[in-house]
Amino acid sequence: MATVRFSALEKALSHTPKEVVVPAEKPSKYFSERVFTRQKMQEYLSKEAYKSVVDANEKSCQIDRKTADQIAAGMKAWAMDQGVTHYTHWFHPLNGATAEKHDAFFEPTDDGGAIENFSGALLVQQEPDASSFPNGGIRNTFEARGYSAWDPSSPAFVVGKTLCIPTIFVSYTGEALDYKTPLLKALNSLNEHATAVAQYFDKDVSKVIANLGWEQEYFLVDEALFYARPDLSLTGRTLMGHASAKDQQLEDHYFGAIPERVAAFMRDFEVEALRLGIPVKTRHNEVAPNQFECAPVYEEANLAVDHNQLITEVMSRIAGKHQFKVLMHEKPYKGVNGSGKHNNWSMSTNTGVNLLSPGKNPKANLQFLTFLVNTVMAVYKYSDLLRASIVSPGNEHRLGASEAPPSIISIFLGSQLSSNLDEIESKVSLSDKMSPTEKTELKLDIGKIPEILRDNTDRNRTSPFAFTGNRFEFRAVGSSANCAAPMITLNAIVAKQLKEFKLEVDAIIEKGVKKDEAIFKVLKKYITASKTIRFEGNGYSQEWADEAARRGLSNIKGMVEAVKAYISPDALALFDELNILSPREMEARKEIREEIFIKKIQIESRVLGDLALNHIIPTAIRYQNILITNVKGLKDLMPNADSLPQMKMLEKITFHIGEVERMVRDMIAARKEANKIDEITHKAEAYSEHVKPFLDQIRYHIDKLELIVDDEMWPLPKYRELLFTR
Ligand code: ADP
Ligand code: MG
Repeated sequence: MATVRFSALEKALSHTPKEVVVPAEKPSKYFSERVFTRQKMQEYLSKEAYKSVVDANEKSCQIDRKTADQIAAGMKAWAMDQGVTHYTHWFHPLNGATAEKHDAFFEPTDDGGAIENFSGALLVQQEPDASSFPNGGIRNTFEARGYSAWDPSSPAFVVGKTLCIPTIFVSYTGEALDYKTPLLKALNSLNEHATAVAQYFDKDVSKVIANLGWEQEYFLVDEALFYARPDLSLTGRTLMGHASAKDQQLEDHYFGAIPERVAAFMRDFEVEALRLGIPVKTRHNEVAPNQFECAPVYEEANLAVDHNQLITEVMSRIAGKHQFKVLMHEKPYKGVNGSGKHNNWSMSTNTGVNLLSPGKNPKANLQFLTFLVNTVMAVYKYSDLLRASIVSPGNEHRLGASEAPPSIISIFLGSQLSSNLDEIESKVSLSDKMSPTEKTELKLDIGKIPEILRDNTDRNRTSPFAFTGNRFEFRAVGSSANCAAPMITLNAIVAKQLKEFKLEVDAIIEKGVKKDEAIFKVLKKYITASKTIRFEGNGYSQEWADEAARRGLSNIKGMVEAVKAYISPDALALFDELNILSPREMEARKEIREEIFIKKIQIESRVLGDLALNHIIPTAIRYQNILITNVKGLKDLMPNADSLPQMKMLEKITFHIGEVERMVRDMIAARKEANKIDEITHKAEAYSEHVKPFLDQIRYHIDKLELIVDDEMWPLPKYRELLFTR
């Protein structure tokens, strides 16, 4: 009967932990072994060439062609010493994956021979055909060709026999077709405006960088089971499956012992990650069965984003060796926890100060408060945009469901800081100058902020955006996201906010008010203005949803609705003013998201339709026939027996089959209707409102059938098998 499922199960159970060859030396010895690090640059580059890379990094200087040639030669020499034969520009197009096109160093020469060539021109710029990457209509009005250009702030690395060069990817007419271009611009903008503000406190600050530490959650599933579930392999999530009798109720998986087969996989991919310079440090089980997390030490945001993209590739590749599939989807299984990718974010200066860390004295704390309150204000003003930065069809299932933050953006600060802010608010009067008592009181209040706020007991895991002692943790980000999306927005809104703050403070100083006082005045104003975004309670509760509505906070559940914030007048003005993305590029980004949404729902709907008609209904009918024969036989034997339980089962099966069949037809009709719509936003809305709801409704009846039909006949691996086989 259901041979695919049972042979998959048999195969899965035969998969045993793989022997992992862990290098004999300590990780510090092979860390970054495959990266063209500064140390290696010094070895392979001339002094001038090395200096120009460093300057490009630290002072955003341009690298001229001649120097680029030297760098390319050095890079090639280093790569060829590792046995590398090919090179590729490595970039993040807007489909969420990474793209590479490999070219060989090898080049035939006129005299019939060949050389290994890699010039500065090839390092600096290439022209991959842009027409097959999502471009949100830019293609229609602009040049179709795109080019990729080297990002010297992220070092080149070697995967297999290929040298990978991190690049940006833009259209010929200059529009960004990737994540990295606007990310670099947003980080630049943050640097500019945060530095200006940091100089109020320390004239030696000449650079501010954003840091990112991501925590990648994921599920593992046995490869054989994965392929026996067409929904999982085609859409990344299960479109059906009744809950397992036991899943995460006992909370016995979180931080539990890591199963041996999984541990072997982790050791294996971590070695690879370390070789690639990704400083992976933390690994543990997550809440749901077969769910895990990996986190590195935080890094400069652009590099951290590249490393997150890279590690997902590494994990998928290494998983194959262990007969696992890595599920990066936000919600592969209904009813158990989804996967997120918490983005831990902070700002630090070239003088070694974390601007989100409370200091030792009132002065340092005033600086801390300045950056903290401005971040709160930025999130308050642009909460819808921040919400839009984390949309994905997968995250739509996760937000607001089992143990994931709600779709309402709010900020958790912890009781200590909350009361600090409340006190400041109550102490400073709104007159132009402060009275001496006010000044002393304030100094005392600020002095009360303890140097170390990191108190794990005070952590609120239900908040989408939480302060955790020396950084903010943006928890609403989904596991499959490119962190660049939220990082572009977060850094941009904080940059813009700091810019405005500086203008306001300077205007007050000009009136003859002392700097500290002026800063206080503006901070107080912000604390009052942004109060509604602060929430310390349980973000998962209905009370919060009600309270948030009373406060006038948005609660945008659907992706199609959320993504509209990309083109709100405020958003367009913000990105344009900071020179990060033009209104046209924003429009294109919104369109790309809508296109992705439509396609994903379309695929899910087709897969579900096929499975329902070709797997589920035929199976249910077979069992129905068995019951029919059984009922007939029983009636022959016991003509007077009324109410046979088998008859009840038959009725149920017949009912659910009928519902599934009818709804699949209706769903197909809804899809056809939606496909007639040309305007993309309307089409996405039609998919969201008229096609998507069928997915859950059909699933409901299939899951009921799963409970009735003979287990031996059920064709698809069940939740208990997917979640507990390892
Ligand atoms: P938890 O699960 O308790 O939130 P983890 O240890 O799993 O914490 O992950 C915390 C992440 O935050 C790590 O990537 C860590 O490097 C990062 N992090 C720590 N300090 C900072 C900071 N100042 N700025 C940005 N990220 C940070
Ligand atoms: Mg963690």
